[in-house]
Amino acid sequence: MKITRSKTSRLDQVDFENLGFGAGLSDHVFRAEYKDGQWDDGVIEPYGHLRQGLGLHALHYGQAVFEGQKAYKQADGGIAVFRPERNFDRINLSGERMCIPTIPKDLFMNGLMELIRVDRDWVPSGKNQALYLRPFTFASAEWVIAKASDQYTFGIVTCPVGELYSGAIKVKIEQEFTRATQGGVGFAKAAGNYGGSFLATRKAVEEGFSQVLWTDHKEHKFIEEAGTMNVALIINDVLVTPKLSDTILAGITRDSILTLVREWGIEVQERDITVDELLDSVKSGDLQEAFGMGTAAVISPINGFGYQGTVIDCPFKEDGMATRIKTALSDIRYGRVEDSHGWMHRI
Ligand SMILES: *Cc1c(COP(=O)(O)O)cnc(C)c1O
Repeated sequence: MKITRSKTSRLDQVDFENLGFGAGLSDHVFRAEYKDGQWDDGVIEPYGHLRQGLGLHALHYGQAVFEGQKAYKQADGGIAVFRPERNFDRINLSGERMCIPTIPKDLFMNGLMELIRVDRDWVPSGKNQALYLRPFTFASAEWVIAKASDQYTFGIVTCPVGELYSGAIKVKIEQEFTRATQGGVGFAKAAGNYGGSFLATRKAVEEGFSQVLWTDHKEHKFIEEAGTMNVALIINDVLVTPKLSDTILAGITRDSILTLVREWGIEVQERDITVDELLDSVKSGDLQEAFGMGTAAVISPINGFGYQGTVIDCPFKEDGMATRIKTALSDIRYGRVEDSHGWMHRI
């Protein structure tokens, strides 16, 4: 793999005391091109601009997918990535749905690991900080015909991040807009899913919420996801979460949390959850906790649900399950405890 190093670094422009989320991209990128039916070996080069025209396919038809994962500074000073094979599998699952050619495992893993090595000084070491990794593939032919592209670019950019939300969030139970439909692309990390969600999120934010709690597209009767997080409820000491389907993105955080919680002997139910059941459980007090689960925020406790113009509070308990899970997962990710699941991939 050819590596071209940048002559100057932008590292000194980063305020590591006040890391937001998703700005301040690192010095280098990984990039590979697909042409004539195959991927090239890829290169690492300084962060820069595309040399492509306005006919760029992905901009017109949204044939693009992405991943989101993190590299963590370890307690012993090393660096490790959390379950990267899962993200590799998922970018190809998303790609299959979007007619994007499969990315070879070596290309994905070597590109990712080598890029982190080159920009290792960008991996932050503050509390709950990490280097966010964004692999993505987009259609890079230049034409305006509505058919699958015959050229693609696979890229990886990274940026140091802090926490997405700190503290508990209020979510609006969505009754108008839809994120995903049966037979659609909701289970894929397809670019357009996010563009299509911004209006609903903006309206929810204007109404004082942090996020939308998506419901099914037919009746808005079943809860699905909280923004770009999977959602879990603790009802009478049981962890209840919507079962996976083609309208729900199979989160790696969700999978990891269900694994841990089952090991602790806590019952897990993956099943349909109606809005009525959710609201009734809040009112009766059976709902002990609710939280979102995802790479960006890890765990986001939910302390209120907006529904038909009113807000139903559900106080967040600091010493509850969300906190216990977050601590356990963070201990594994930052190498503070033994990684008994083999989840951490050291650089
Ligand atoms: C990425 C994402 C998640 C969370 O997946 P993780 O692998 O846990 O980061 C959940 N829902 C949606 C819609 C997502 O895009």
